[in-house]
Amino acid sequence: MSTALIPPGTTIGIVGGGQLGRMLSMAAAQLGYRCAIFAPEPSGPAADVSARWVQGNYDDLDALQAFAQSVDLITYEFENIPVGPLEALRVPLAPHPRALATAQDRATEKAFVKAIGGRPAPWAVVSSREDLDAAVKLIGAPAILKTRRFGYDGKGQARLKAAADADEAWASLAWEPAVLEGFVEFEREFSILVVRGRDGTIATWDPVLNVHEDGILALSTVPAGLSDATVEAAKALAGKIVTELDYVGVLAIEFFDTEAGPVFNEMAPRVHNSGHWTIEGAVTSQFENHIRAICGLPLGSTARAAPRVEMRNLIGEQASHWDLILSDPAAHLHLYGKGQARPGRKMGHVTKLFFD
Ligand code: AMP
Repeated sequence: MSTALIPPGTTIGIVGGGQLGRMLSMAAAQLGYRCAIFAPEPSGPAADVSARWVQGNYDDLDALQAFAQSVDLITYEFENIPVGPLEALRVPLAPHPRALATAQDRATEKAFVKAIGGRPAPWAVVSSREDLDAAVKLIGAPAILKTRRFGYDGKGQARLKAAADADEAWASLAWEPAVLEGFVEFEREFSILVVRGRDGTIATWDPVLNVHEDGILALSTVPAGLSDATVEAAKALAGKIVTELDYVGVLAIEFFDTEAGPVFNEMAPRVHNSGHWTIEGAVTSQFENHIRAICGLPLGSTARAAPRVEMRNLIGEQASHWDLILSDPAAHLHLYGKGQARPGRKMGHVTKLFFD
């Protein structure tokens, strides 16, 4: 991307219009930027807080090109977008689509992380039913079969307790290209959010302990209660990943904490749900630092603002209890302005800082 500073007062284009786009737009507005959204839906959570909403498909190069002409810089808040059209845009773009291409394919992502010294779970590429038998022989059982692309929140996955489950697992993934992953015996799951500025400055927030329910993030807590060695190893890998990818912006990495140290699970080349606590819980939020990084501004401090911070997602009907949540004067309530509270839908989150 061009190295020219994108100064406050200009317009940032965001590809994707969900809650991440909403919180990015709010952080950008605070710094004096306007945001324009490009998304396939007619509206979404980012619409209420951005200057403009352009409806278009992610693979529509003409529509994307026209959108790009109307903004000063493009970023994205959603990773399942085709890389080709983004690469063709004649406007500064951050993070570089190379990061998207790496993270969109579980096999590419694991190979990349292993090559730079990280430790993913043992895996094998599965492109056919015969491959799956060979992979089970190699990896053993229990194991998890995951589609290589477009999986999120535990979707596109099937567990194999034993080799005999192979037929059912393969069919449940609709015979899509996949990877078979060895089952990791972990103590807890955690994530690291890292930001890299245009000048190569790197900062990480404290690692986050994550608890999932039905494959969806339910609760994030900081500090994560990890050993110093684990924190150091995870932060070192985060630094290597963003340096190798010449990454600019915020990137999230999910790990399993095991006795033998952190095992890499997956990464997201964008702001991330497990970083929502940083809005009130850190000196500078993930959203603000993403905007600072992509615009070429100095990064803000990632230090924690309280000894302990907790962020709970409000899933489906949980958001309808906003009045009860607000009866606690210390609760920071965030609602995403989504209409229908479908089961499993992330409707908002609530953050609390603890000082004792
Ligand atoms: P993912 O979409 O890959 O993050 O997987 C969703 C959830 O499934 C994770 O948060 C873990 O709880 C669990 N999981 C995924 N991969 C593994 C693995 N290799 N071993 C054990 N549990 C896993």
